[in-house]
Amino acid sequence: MRRFNVPLIAAMAVALPPLAANAGGPLVDIRSVDPTIIVELRYAGRNNLVGYPLYPSGTCALTRPEVASGLAAAQAFLRRYQFGLKIWDAYRPVAVQEKLWHASHNSDYVANPEIGVGSLHSWGVAIDATLVDTWNRPVRMPSDFDDFTPAAMWRYVGPHADVRAHVHLLQIAMRNAGFWGLRTEWWHFTIADWQKYLSNQAARTAQVSGTQWRGKL
Ligand SMILES: [Zn+2]
Repeated sequence: MRRFNVPLIAAMAVALPPLAANAGGPLVDIRSVDPTIIVELRYAGRNNLVGYPLYPSGTCALTRPEVASGLAAAQAFLRRYQFGLKIWDAYRPVAVQEKLWHASHNSDYVANPEIGVGSLHSWGVAIDATLVDTWNRPVRMPSDFDDFTPAAMWRYVGPHADVRAHVHLLQIAMRNAGFWGLRTEWWHFTIADWQKYLSNQAARTAQVSGTQWRGKL
């Protein structure tokens, strides 16, 4: 397992200044833990809500090591059903969260980096994921990434049995691997004991602000 300490990560991506300033601990490349997990960071390309790359090309999907281990467990579970994980986002620097916040102006979905703990992506404890089939091709899911419509809800209520089965399988795999989902975004998962990874100050803030963070990407 490759571990990146904060100065190394900052050196790897000079275009993103305080890259790991808020992660609060070591981060690992998810694919160094399980190379069979597909990574397609949507903020590294143009196919995202801002329409241009927010990450430098070649950015790895980084998380806390415990999150990467959980993803490897979810991947092993999914392989038994001829599916696998594709990661759409992982560790997200605060600087990128600020850009998303300003670009989206959608406080219902995007966490304001200035309030409370900001996004749990910036702590390396949240990831966005979808399913692929055994040939790593996309499968039908309830919506695309960052779809701020009712189609993104955790509980699929549409008419397609295959979509329902896919999202249900993703949820079971992630729950069994120690993750919580998010009511308004079927693709977003947080490690269940996320508070353990926040600084004491941030954890206290999170407690004071209750569950506010849970509704935001
Ligand atoms: Zn997310």
